[in-house]
Amino acid sequence: MSIVESLHQIKRNIPLNVTLVAVSKKQSVSSVKAAYDAGQRDFGENYIQEMLAKYKTLPNDIRWHMIGKVQRNKLKHIAPFVYLIHGIEKLDQLETLDREAAKYQRMIRCLLQVKIAQEESKSGMTDRKADEILTSEIYASMDHVKIVGLMGMATFTEDEHQLRAEFESLHILFKQLKEKNPSFETLSMGMSADHQMAIACGSTMVRVGSSIFGARNYGA
Ligand SMILES: *Cc1c(COP(=O)(O)O)cnc(C)c1O
Repeated sequence: MSIVESLHQIKRNIPLNVTLVAVSKKQSVSSVKAAYDAGQRDFGENYIQEMLAKYKTLPNDIRWHMIGKVQRNKLKHIAPFVYLIHGIEKLDQLETLDREAAKYQRMIRCLLQVKIAQEESKSGMTDRKADEILTSEIYASMDHVKIVGLMGMATFTEDEHQLRAEFESLHILFKQLKEKNPSFETLSMGMSADHQMAIACGSTMVRVGSSIFGARNYGA
């Protein structure tokens, strides 16, 4: 199937109130352009240098989502244009971002990454830490970053009970925090293999890569 056909097929199976982020990491500029020409505007990248290179060559109405690990020392490169940062794990990342965003008079929207998977390799903070950051005086004093929700990655498993339990736990936390944080609007969970389950559990934003673009070119 072509990129455009895959994209349309996925969109057909996603409710209109769920945002599809096309994860274009390790994919060529021409692949991104093909999806763009088919109407896709939200794209996700994991690496700052790669996002920057694509931003410079692709149309400027693309909404660029940083979904990878946040590299504090490189945030300055994407502060002028990044649309949403999904993987905030520490208060000091927000502090750096706040400073960089101020230089461009921007308000940068962020999600806190919460650990829901059992795998060691998947990162994220505890529920309590998320609440601590949201209620901290340091965050309250920031004028250029806004936490608008949560992001999580489930365990890589075919066990649907486990998947559902992980996604539901994040949805419950999201609803609890939303009561105290009116800026909460986005729950980013679900990838190629598990986005339907994530949507059934309350996801409002899915990050889908390989089901749209095919396998990633790790040699590139
Ligand atoms: C790569 C990646 C995705 C997309 O994964 P696919 O399985 O290709 O859909 C989603 N979220 C994050 C954080 C990723 O790193």
